[in-house]
Amino acid sequence: MSAIDGLPPLREVIARHDLQAKKQLGQNFLLDLNLTARIARAAGDLTQCDVLEVGPGPGGLTRGLLAEGARHVLAIEKDARAIPALEEIAAAYPGRLTVIHGDALEVDPLAHLAPPIRVAANLPYNIGTELLTRWLTPSEWPPFWMSLTLMFQKEVAERIVAKPGGRAYGRLAVLAQWRTEARIVLTLPPQAFVPQPKVESAVVHLTALPGPRFPADAKVLEEVTRAGFGQRRKMLRASLRGLHPQIETLLSEAAIAPTARAEEIPLEGFCTLARGLKAAREAGR
Ligand code: SAM
Repeated sequence: MSAIDGLPPLREVIARHDLQAKKQLGQNFLLDLNLTARIARAAGDLTQCDVLEVGPGPGGLTRGLLAEGARHVLAIEKDARAIPALEEIAAAYPGRLTVIHGDALEVDPLAHLAPPIRVAANLPYNIGTELLTRWLTPSEWPPFWMSLTLMFQKEVAERIVAKPGGRAYGRLAVLAQWRTEARIVLTLPPQAFVPQPKVESAVVHLTALPGPRFPADAKVLEEVTRAGFGQRRKMLRASLRGLHPQIETLLSEAAIAPTARAEEIPLEGFCTLARGLKAAREAGR
């Protein structure tokens, strides 16, 4: 018996279902159910929420989410071997767990979820940033989710919460912090996983803000940060040259030194610049 539910320990589940980790699926499993319960708690009050979990694997975090009272969990898993193990959890929590065998990059989860929705996942490293970027760039804001609680390699987690002035600060920080409150809530050593990854991991909790911190057109903001951080060693007057013939004037109007580099510019500066660029284009300047 495990501490958080009456289901068998995860090692036994893995052995019985022949779930040896596969590297190409980004599989590093969490087997300590006290730890998965902690991650579930970091996701906030789940009792009134549906939870989307990507990559449940043998179900450690899934069990944490259910034990912490999630109203309903939708778990999308690509590895067919894990589905019978997950169905056993579904049977222990009648009506509260839906398992979909599929690729999270292709399955539309919304047909199976009712608001309010939280997302919680120990993401496969190979699709983690792709999924995060999608969740942060929906066609309308606020997004379908109220929070994201996601495990990443620590280096990626640090890029999400980074402040200006260092190497970690880049497009991901601007994208995440523009419309969410993002913080690292837990750091985990390699030993927490089976098999052990080479690097530390961290859980990031992002709460959707009702609207952006500073107004800007999402596409223009993305254009500016892609150009600025794409050549981050260059001064902005050079890295942003392709965006507008009068980029130096637009930078000055946004109170940004044309000689500054992207990593020095706070979120507000990028938003001011994106507004100025859009206005200049619309005015045919
Ligand atoms: N949640 C489990 C845990 O914490 O122990 C497993 C986490 S493991 C890092 C990532 C999981 O994502 C694996 O179970 C893997 O099979 C699954 N996965 C990989 N690519 C996927 C995809 N495209 N769609 C859905 N699941 C995927």
